[in-house]
Amino acid sequence: MNLWDVKGVPHRGWKCEGVIDVGDGASSSDEIEYEQCEMCGNEKIRYVHIMKNESYFRKLRVGCVCAEKMSGDYENPRKNENALKNMLLRKKNYLKRPWKYNPAKGTYSKKYKGTYITLVRGRYDSWGIYCDNYRLWQVRGQKIKDFKAAEVLAFELYELIHKRQEPIAA
Ligand SMILES: [Zn+2]
Repeated sequence: MNLWDVKGVPHRGWKCEGVIDVGDGASSSDEIEYEQCEMCGNEKIRYVHIMKNESYFRKLRVGCVCAEKMSGDYENPRKNENALKNMLLRKKNYLKRPWKYNPAKGTYSKKYKGTYITLVRGRYDSWGIYCDNYRLWQVRGQKIKDFKAAEVLAFELYELIHKRQEPIAA
């Protein structure tokens, strides 16, 4: 049995709220806690599409194929999943590049796609990120607590600043 068979569960009219990689942060595939598609029961879903429907009481976490059927959109779910995969690949490459420690300043820097990214230890063990002319010292009012978090946030900051302009749909 799966939700496709259950009367009262809408088949159409679902909107995708986003795609997530449940394996993000796992160092090997054994470590990944795959999910099961909540709509069809398919197992080992790594890229989970969060689907919402106004006439259903909760969101569903599903795989790409179900996301397409539920939204009636056979283009964007795959596109969004691929965009996520590409972003994760870029992140992996970014993380692979070693940091250079500057003992005089106590900072860590690396060049990524022609841009210098620097992590600076602030007071009280918090971290700051310098990227181009931009500075980031906190996220949603929270200090950046450790190097690992700063490293990942620096990538997200870089991506946010260098986001390619999406073409306006005709
Ligand atoms: Zn499914």
